[in-house]
Parts: sequence; C-alpha cells; structure tokens
Amino acid sequence: MTSHQIRQSFLDFFRSKDHLIVPSAPLVAKNDPTLMFNNSGMAQFKDFFLGNGTPPSRRIADTQKCLRVSGKHNDLEDVGFDTYHHTMFEMLGNWSFGDYFKKEAITWAWELLTEVYKLPKERLYVSVFEGDAKDGVPFDQEAWDLWVPIVGEERIILGNKKDNFWEMGDTGPCGPCSEIHIDLRPQADVDSISGKSLVNNDHPQVVEIWNLVFMQFERKADSSLIPLPATHVDTGMGFERLCMAVQAKMSNYDTDVFQNTIKVLEKLSGKTYGSDEPFTDIAMRVISDHIRAVAFAITDGQLPSNVKAGYVIRRILRRAVRYGYSYLGFSEPFFHKLIPVLSEQFKDVFPELTSQEEFVTRVILEEEKSFLRTLESGLKRLDIIMTALKEKETNVIAGDEVFELSDTFGFPVDLTALIAREKSFIIDEIGFQDALAAQKARSRQDAAKEATDWIELRESDGVEFLGYDFEETHSHIVKYRKVKTKTGDEYHIVLDRTPFYAEMGGQVGDTGTLHFNVHGESRVVNIIDTKKENDLFVHISKDKNLDEALQNAGIVVAHINEERRNKIKANHSATHLMLSSMREVLGTHIGQKGSYLNDELLRFDFSHFSKVTDEELKKIEDRVNEKIRENIPLKVMTNVPIQEAIAMGATATFGEKYGDFVRVIIFDPEFSFELCGGTHIPSTGEIGVFKFISEGSVSAGVRRVEAVTGEKALEIMRQQEETLVQLKDLLKGPKDIVKAVENLLEERTQLQKRIEALENEKIQSLKLHLLDKVKSYQSFNLIIEKVNVPSADSLKQLSYELREQVENLIAVFGTEVAGKPQISVFIAENVVQSSGLNAGNIVKDLAREIRGGGGGQPFFATAGGSDASGLDNALEKAKGLF
Ligand code: ATP
Ligand code: MG
Repeated sequence: MTSHQIRQSFLDFFRSKDHLIVPSAPLVAKNDPTLMFNNSGMAQFKDFFLGNGTPPSRRIADTQKCLRVSGKHNDLEDVGFDTYHHTMFEMLGNWSFGDYFKKEAITWAWELLTEVYKLPKERLYVSVFEGDAKDGVPFDQEAWDLWVPIVGEERIILGNKKDNFWEMGDTGPCGPCSEIHIDLRPQADVDSISGKSLVNNDHPQVVEIWNLVFMQFERKADSSLIPLPATHVDTGMGFERLCMAVQAKMSNYDTDVFQNTIKVLEKLSGKTYGSDEPFTDIAMRVISDHIRAVAFAITDGQLPSNVKAGYVIRRILRRAVRYGYSYLGFSEPFFHKLIPVLSEQFKDVFPELTSQEEFVTRVILEEEKSFLRTLESGLKRLDIIMTALKEKETNVIAGDEVFELSDTFGFPVDLTALIAREKSFIIDEIGFQDALAAQKARSRQDAAKEATDWIELRESDGVEFLGYDFEETHSHIVKYRKVKTKTGDEYHIVLDRTPFYAEMGGQVGDTGTLHFNVHGESRVVNIIDTKKENDLFVHISKDKNLDEALQNAGIVVAHINEERRNKIKANHSATHLMLSSMREVLGTHIGQKGSYLNDELLRFDFSHFSKVTDEELKKIEDRVNEKIRENIPLKVMTNVPIQEAIAMGATATFGEKYGDFVRVIIFDPEFSFELCGGTHIPSTGEIGVFKFISEGSVSAGVRRVEAVTGEKALEIMRQQEETLVQLKDLLKGPKDIVKAVENLLEERTQLQKRIEALENEKIQSLKLHLLDKVKSYQSFNLIIEKVNVPSADSLKQLSYELREQVENLIAVFGTEVAGKPQISVFIAENVVQSSGLNAGNIVKDLAREIRGGGGGQPFFATAGGSDASGLDNALEKAKGLF
C-alpha cells in the first residue's frame, strides 16, 4: 500500500463505523494559551472534553498535523538520530465524545491493523495500565479483560503511570491508556530475543504505533481525582510509523513518505543516502524531516521570527540548514528547493501548501540566506575567541562564550563543538549547561502564572455572545477563578451571556463593567480585558477581594465601554476596506499574515515582496476614503456553509480554523467580502477618514502597514499641522518654509567647510610647534604633550601628520574637549614590531587617571574619561612608561 492508500484506508474504516471525518486543524494553535503548536490529535477537540462546547458528531476521525518541538512534548534532539521520531508528523485518530468506550476502541483498532493493514498478529504487543497506589487509581481490569481473548496474556505488558496514564495538563480530564507496539526486526533477531522484552526500550524497530486513551477521570488542582460524568476515547496513531509497519520497512525514512525528498537531496548534494556515512544519513533525515515542519508552519501562518512560536520555527530551519552546511557540503541556500516535491506529495491531503508554494519558498530562501550570513559571522567570532585562547595557552572555550554564540549569534552549540574539535579545542559543556539553565530559569520566572481551580457557580452549556447587537446584557456568573500573574492578581470571570468581545482575529477584547447587587448593595466590577481560552470568554478584572461578591451576585448587568468599542469597530471595518483596496492596487497575491487592531490604530501584516511605494500607499488610501464617502451599508450573513462562502468569493486566511458554518462581512459584494467574526460599523461613513501612518518590513516577504481612522486621524493631522506652525514661527514666518529650511541647510554646509579649514590651519601650526618638542629617546622619538585642539578627532589627525615627518615616533597627547578629557597614544608600526609596545594596552592604563576607558589598535588607540583634573597625572605616568 502507498502512504496515500494507508491514510485513506484509515479514514474509510472509521467512516464505515459511523465517524464524521474532519479536516486537520492548523499546525499553529490558536486560542489556547497553553499551546504554541498542535501536538496531538485531541488538541482541537479539547473544549469538547472540558465540556465547553458540543462536538458536531459524537464520533470523529481525522489526520492531524502535529509538531513536537516545544513544551511537554519535545522530540527535536532525537529527530534524525533515530528513525521514528519526527518534528512534524501526522497523527491519525478516532474519537468518542461520551459515546463508545474501551470495547469498541480496542476491537476496532485490532480489526484495522490486522484485517485492513494485514499486520502480522504475532508481531504486535499491547500495554495495559497497571494502576498506581499513590494516586489511588486501580489496575485497568476492563482493558485487560478485553485484550486477553484477542492477543493472549503473553502479549500484554503492564505499564506504569509514566507510559500508560494520560493527563491533559496539571488539571483536567485524564485516564489510563493502552498502547499498541510492533516488532519489525528480521526474523532471525526475533528468534533470538523476544520482542516483548524490547517494548518501550527505545529499540528503533520495536516501536509504539498507536495509543488508545480512555478518559474517565478529572484531576483537580489539589491533585485529587474524580470520575468524569461521561467517558471518552481519544486515540492517536503515528502515520509515518504506520507506513513503516505496513510497508515492512526498518525506518520511517525508507517509506514513500520521505523517499521523494531524500531523492532530491541526493541529487542536490551528490551524496547517497544509506552509504554508511553516519553523518550524511543523519543530515538527510534531519533535512527531509525539518522541511515538513517549516513548510507547514509557514503555510499555517507561523513565520520564522525572533520570538516565541516564530523562534521555534526559525530554530528548526537553522538546524536543517546547518546539517546541510556541515555534512552535505551546502554553502549556498538549498532548503527551499525541497518545497516543490513536498507540495506535490501533499496536494490532495493538505492543499494549503500547494496554494502558497511560491510564498513559502521565498520565505525559506530569505531565512536561509540570512542564516548563512550568521554562520559566517559566527565562524569569524569563533576564530577570534580561539586565537585569544591560544595566546593564553588554553584550549577550552568557556561556557558563556558558547552560550553567547548560540544565543546572540544563533550559532548552534553542536556546530561550535564540532568546529572546536577540528581545531583541537573543546567546549566547556558544563559551563554552557549552567548558562543555559540560568536563562531557562529567567524565562520560567517571566512566564510564571498560577491559577486556582474554576469555582463553578451554575450550570452552563457554553457562552452566548450577544455583542454583535447589544452593548449590555443581563447575565449570570457561571464560574470564576483567581490567577496570579507578574503584573498582579486577576479574577477571570465567565458569564452565561455577554456583550464583551473576546480578543480574536486581531481585534482586541472589550473593556467595561459588571454591575450587580450583593445582599441588597450594589457592586461594580471593572473589566480590563476579555480573552478567549479555548471556547470560553474570560472577563478579566484586577479589582481586589471579589470572591464574596462574585459568589453572591444576582443578575449581572454586563456593559461594555461603547466609545472604545465604536473606535475598534471603525478600525476593523477600515481594515476590510483597506485589504480590498490593497488587492486592487498591489495585486491579488496580498494575503493576510497577521492583524491587530484596537481603539487607536490598525496594524496589518501581509505577503508582498517589495516596499509599498508612497505612490501606491496614496492610491490605497484614496480608494479606502472613496469607499468611506460612498457610505456603504454593512451586510452580515451568518451561518453560511463555508464552501458556499468561498464559492461566493470570500477570502479565508490560511492557518485560521473555520467551522463548517461561517459569518461573512460584506461592504458591497463587488468590493469587500470577508469571513470574519469581528464587530463592524453599520455603514462605512462612520469611519470618517482613513490615513496610513507607517509602512515597513516584518520579515522576508511580509510587510506591515499601520493606519488610523476618524478622530485619531484628525488628531494626528492636527499634530502635524501644529508642528508646521511652530516651525514657521521659529523661522520667523517665511513665505515658503521648505525654501527657508533648504537655505538654512546650505548655510550650515558652508559654515562647516569654513570650520574645517580653520581647524586644519590650527592643527598645522600646532604641528610645527610640536615638532620642536620631539625628543629622541633610546631608539625612538618621543613626544608627550597636553594640547589644545578643537575635537577628539584632531588628536588622530595630529598624530598621523607628525608620523609623516618624524620616524620611529611615539606620541601621547592629552586634551580637553567641552570639559571632557581625551587621551591618544600613537606608536609607529615598526616600533610596535620591534619593541612589542601596544598602544591599546597603554591607553587603557592611562585612562584610569581620568576615570575612563578606551582601546584601539596596537599602533593607535584613544580613551575618553570623566575627570579632566587627572589629565596631567596621566601624561606624567606616560613619561614613566617609555
Ligand atoms: P514515543 O514514546 O514513541 O515518543 P509517545 O508516547 O510520545 O511516543 P503519544 O503521545 O502516545 O506518543 O502519541 C501517539 C502516537 O503518535 C504514538 O503512538 C506514535 O505512533 C506517534 N508519535 C508520537 N511522537 C511522535 C513523533 N515525534 N514522531 C512521529 N510519530 C510520533
Ligand atoms: Mg514521545
């Protein structure tokens, strides 16, 4: 079977068992503060297990793009070294939400593996949870009883809490699991060592392929367990490992999932995979794995950058490029050349890559180029470090130098170690680990956030958002909790219905108040922000001591800050008009790559490869303002089937997860037609006016514009006007300000020239005067003098001019420029060579006298200081040095 058929058979099998087949959620996690990337099939269904939403069907199956390179699951360092862990992989899964349980999950898994895929039964092992006395969870008798008649006791392994008990997080749903492992070794090996003894022992051919999780408990914040009212099934099978098993290969990389990419790599590098050259093979595995992670992350909206999720992607990309550089001889960009084969391979499964092929390729190319430059400057820096160490006669590169190379220069540690080794140096591994640990501790502290359990006050089946139509609702508090953050304590409050928009799709959350009575007295709680946490709308308050009030609140009048919201609405609608105008002016390739808007401004990132010129910005601005003046009424369509909306011409943003039914925002169907959950003004006239305030680059292939509307635009224009008025006053009211400023600049240039000429004259006469003071001393000519020069630069000029007339010169000058002492030391090159004197060292020594510091080269160095009264001492000291 080909990998395509294997994937399809999985989906077909579960469709035949009444499962709804859904698409993969984007690789990049949205609306989940605990997760940067989806790292398992269940991530997109979390809310259904937490009871915050209702699934479209109680049985679901899919293939999910997963990335395990950060947080709880991080397999990065194994990838390439072993043959069955990937950064990005597909997880095939089937789910029951309060529907079937262990019996069906187990029998279907077995049926699929042995009857559809025809995997040999005698090569399969299963594990069952043995129980944990400390936790008070019993042995999973039910799973044992189900497996025994299928595989027999001798093929069952008992697993401990680490391997066989799954938890969503520190709190939340959890339960025992049953894994299925396969032994793919050659028969001779199987005959000599039993596969059972190798399960869960990191053997590359005895691997876990499928994990069946049975959720039946909930973990509370005090770590106690209570049974869940409804039980669920969550299974995950590694697609690439399944392909290895079905295609009877010894490595995931030998399957058709990776072979296409490896073939291209072989061709580009002229090296052969499997040629017994350990690092060639590792490099090809690393690269053919990493290109998938990088390509799909960019496709789903996560561009490489310097922070957070973007940094994770950048690191993966750099790891691949550096393996190519070190072991496959690629000193020019190559990584982006793998995109076409990947795009072709996945065009039916994840077409989002194919439709953005050019964009993804260019982003990777730009990243590669800049990293290759980094590699070069890192190599130079490493050279300097090693030369300095040689002088000190040691061959150990200090831990913090290694850390600095990796942290600041993006220079990978293993590369540092490798190059060091080649030059007979070693790195201080322990020192490096210490530096790394110190940094991790710092960032952990930064992220520290502690939350109590939710305190549930009433039943609810999800929040009703009424903020599209109302500024105020009468609501009830469903639950709340307290959260400690770096900026103080917060209350998180959930209501059954709310007018507060929770930050989403770039639009900031609402602020406002909650009014209610407690024991007959009226209370007001200030809401400073509203955020989405999965499907919950969390109202955030920094007010103190709310517990008593929240617990006893009656009907809550939830009221948003309308003035602020109206400005936000105008900015959101303006963003839509702007996007359509951009597509008209710049081309239809303009895709949204990020958006942020609040009551002050709107910011928009988009794919475009060159600077947007002033001319183009003006055109876009004009077009938007034209549409504002047309005063086009808003048309909202809700519950439109997504396919229909797309067919009507709505634009969807890649990496956003849309439901089956979407909301469409239209300002003139011919002009602006967008899928959007945000809030909008009733007609475009309310925007007032639209004005760009900046345009720039964010990263390769992505530009950013910022703009303002309405009152804010007026305010900014007024500020500019005021600046002009002030300028005019300063210039004594000329008719033409521009001409007046040009005249001033011209005058300035002329004056500058005259000053330079005068200074030069002064230095020339000073030089003549100083020539008399040169004394010959031993084999060189020495002058040490306090001089009066116009600028610190003059000391250099003076020294260089003297050099032309005096051989074997050593010149030390001190001066005061604007109250600050300056010292220069000049030593003729041949004196440096013959005497070993070093101007840099000498000036550092002298600088102490003027309470300053400095440096430079062996033949010329300067220092500045803060204590001019020490200048004479410094020069006196200099006399003693020669
Ligand atoms: P392992 O112990 O092999 O790392 P796991 O216990 O981390 O696996 P689960 O979290 O149970 O795995 O994930 C379910 C399935 O996903 C596994 O049975 C395996 O087939 C697959 N899988 C897990 N991690 C990876 C990975 N990094 N690359 C490829 N497949 C993976
Ligand atoms: Mg793992």
